[in-house]
Amino acid sequence: MAGYLEKHDPADRCTCSYCGIAEDIHLLDGVLDKRGNDTGKLACIACYPNDSWCCGSIKMVKLSIAPSLKPFYDQYVHSEQWNAPMKKPETITTNYLIIETAMATCCVLEDTMLLFGDTLPDDHPYKAAEQQMVQWCEDYGAAGRRSQSWALAPLIESVWSIMKEEDRDGMICWDFEFVPQFLLYCLNFTEGEDIVPVVEGAEKLRDLYYTARERCKAFKSSKPASTRQRDRFIQKCREAAEEQWKYADLISDHPDAVQSAFEANEDPEEFVKALGEELELIDFGPWK
Ligand SMILES: [Zn+2]
Repeated sequence: MAGYLEKHDPADRCTCSYCGIAEDIHLLDGVLDKRGNDTGKLACIACYPNDSWCCGSIKMVKLSIAPSLKPFYDQYVHSEQWNAPMKKPETITTNYLIIETAMATCCVLEDTMLLFGDTLPDDHPYKAAEQQMVQWCEDYGAAGRRSQSWALAPLIESVWSIMKEEDRDGMICWDFEFVPQFLLYCLNFTEGEDIVPVVEGAEKLRDLYYTARERCKAFKSSKPASTRQRDRFIQKCREAAEEQWKYADLISDHPDAVQSAFEANEDPEEFVKALGEELELIDFGPWK
């Protein structure tokens, strides 16, 4: 709407979080981190010339531009990206089973974002794998969880289709056992954005699934189940221990102190600082 733009008040400006230039708010882009989450920062086109930079419309580009930024906007307006017609979404062929598998996978990944609920005990053979999955889900956000669920669904479905007849017939519950366990036992969440199978080939993955399932069934923990809240506390303590003392394993080396601190609802950073001082560690961190 031209009228709206013409009425724009030049006093209504914001500053670029990086260079501090004052610019019309429509010409500053919100900065996302590499995981696609909003950082709360605003950036001018010179400081943040990313592929998805967008100022809405050509009229906005003509609006109260800081002279030093003018060449950047001119370049942008003439770029292929600005002039490219909207791409049609890709048409794909799939089937109902794949769609259901993608949905079930996405539910499992979304669940790791909940703050309540039990998690595996600390000594469980798949505790590290569980925490890697949680970290991956945090790192790559909702878009990553959806796209990877979709990408993995054919593989998961191909393994399910060659499971033993009686297991497919009700011995193993597909939603609540097979899909979440498959993610835990058979996939690697530490290789960047793409979640990759631990071994190649549906048959090997099926065998791995069975072996891991038996191993977990036979495992008797000496610890209580953990919780998402407790896992998160431990994770924050590990990060603080790495930052302050270059010693993340300070946390696993002192489980009793960590447990008491968690139960007393202590601040992770302060707890780690006090623990390190008590042990007379050498300080690497910001607390000096
Ligand atoms: Zn800037």
